[in-house]
This record gives sequence, structure tokens and C-alpha cells, in this order.
Amino acid sequence: MDATETTIAGLADVGPDTIALTLDTPAGFEARPGQFIKLLLEVNGETHSRFYTISSPNTQATVEITVGIDPDGEVTPRLDALAAGDVVRFEGPFGRAAYEGEPRCVVLAGGPGIGPAVGIGERALAEGGEAAIVYRDDAPAHTERLDALAADGAFVRVLEADEGLAGTVEAALTGDPGEQVFVYGFGDFLDSATEALTAAGGAPEAAKTENFG
Ligand SMILES: Cc1cc2nc3c(=O)[nH]c(=O)nc-3n(C[C@H](O)[C@H](O)[C@H](O)COP(=O)(O)OP(=O)(O)OC[C@H]3O[C@@H](n4cnc5c(N)ncnc54)[C@H](O)[C@@H]3O)c2cc1C
Repeated sequence: MDATETTIAGLADVGPDTIALTLDTPAGFEARPGQFIKLLLEVNGETHSRFYTISSPNTQATVEITVGIDPDGEVTPRLDALAAGDVVRFEGPFGRAAYEGEPRCVVLAGGPGIGPAVGIGERALAEGGEAAIVYRDDAPAHTERLDALAADGAFVRVLEADEGLAGTVEAALTGDPGEQVFVYGFGDFLDSATEALTAAGGAPEAAKTENFG
């Protein structure tokens, strides 16, 4: 797949060590929240690639990704140093764990998994659907968008890093036929989410899941 070049429209701090990077949508590019792109960055003459999940509700004018900055990471500190007007390259979109118009979206998010959670929640409400977000993080991000979602009727719960998920996941699930569970985050969060879904009588195998690594 050929990489597409585009310009950074904006970069904002959206929480501790978390940025939202907004890219101008290249002509013909279309993606759904929950799909991901492969960002290509030159570091000391070498091309490094990292995957980032779409956190905007749509990609009509711009595409947003939400990046957790790892100070020891090779790529994310460099993304943090970018600015509006800089040019980046990416490939995609990829992935099937994305919003597809489901009438009720229950999103379980750990760390930067909050990106697709807010994107899906906003898109679902805009299309007349329902949204529930259970988010676990030691330093929450996107709190303004979460507050707005809650004000618009979404079920939103933010848990501390050491809090169990099961009770809150059970409260988020209705068992309605149109309900789809999504899970986004790093591997340890996915394990906790699977356990919580099982304990709550849900079906982890039916969840749309993306493992960040
Ligand atoms: C499908 C998918 C979707 C993703 N979506 C998102 C998203 O929406 N948002 C997001 O923030 N992330 C997402 N990720 C994760 C992302 O792609 C990067 O892995 C992440 O941003 C870390 O990149 P980095 O270059 O900063 O860190 P890296 O350089 O990859 O390092 C990560 C950590 O590993 C340590 N490390 C690196 N190399 C070694 C080594 N050789 N030995 C020991 N330790 C080492 C580093 O010190 C650091 O703490 C996604 C991943 C996948 C696969």
C-alpha cells in the first residue's frame, strides 16, 4: 500500500502525556472510528512505523488520532514535538474492530484506548444510537469529551488504574440484541476486559477488540 502524505491541522494536549493529533483528510480517504492508520516517521534517517486508532467521530475534513506519549518510546516523544503545518505520511485505514452503525455501543477502554471510545461514542449518539464507555486509566484523558457525552445521555464511568472492571461492565451491559461491545487498549487491559465481560455474563468472543501491543 502506498503511503499518503498529509499536513497536521492541529495538535492538542488532551490529558497527562496524551495528545490528539489532527490531520487534514487526504482526498478520497475515508475511515470509521476504531479503524487504525500506520504512521510513518523518519527518525535519524530510518523510517519507523506505529499504529494509531482513529478517535474522531468521522473523517470528513480531518482525521484525529489520540496518542499516549511514552517518554522512553522511540516515536511518541517525536510525535509530541510536531506542530500544525508539519507534513506526515501514513498508510491505511486498517482494522475491523470499528463502528459500523450499531444501535448501542459499549466501549471498554484502557489508556489511549479512550481515543476510539470517544470517537465511537460521539458518532453513535450523532446517529441516534446509544453509547456506554467504561474507561480505566491512572491519568484520564479526553475528560471534556467524556463529560459532553455524559451530558448527552451516554453511560460514562472512569475508573482508577487499580479498580476492578466487572461491576461497572455489568452495569453498562443491557443484553439488548443491537448491543455491540468494543475493547481497545494494551494487552493487560484486554485480559482484564475479557475477565470482566465473562464475569458479567457477556460474550468476550463477540466483542470487537483491538490490541495496542
Ligand atoms: C492496532 C494498534 C492500534 C494502536 N492504537 C494506538 C492508539 O490509538 N494510541 C496509542 O497511543 N497507541 C496505539 N498503539 C500503540 C502504538 O502503535 C505504539 O506502540 C506506542 O505509541 C508506543 O510507541 P513508541 O515508539 O513511543 O514506543 P516504543 O519505542 O515502541 O517503546 C514502547 C516501550 O517499550 C520499551 N522498549 C522499546 N524497545 C525496547 C527493547 N528493545 N527492550 C526493552 N524495552 C523496550 C520502551 O522503553 C517503551 O517504554 C496501537 C498499536 C496497535 C498495534
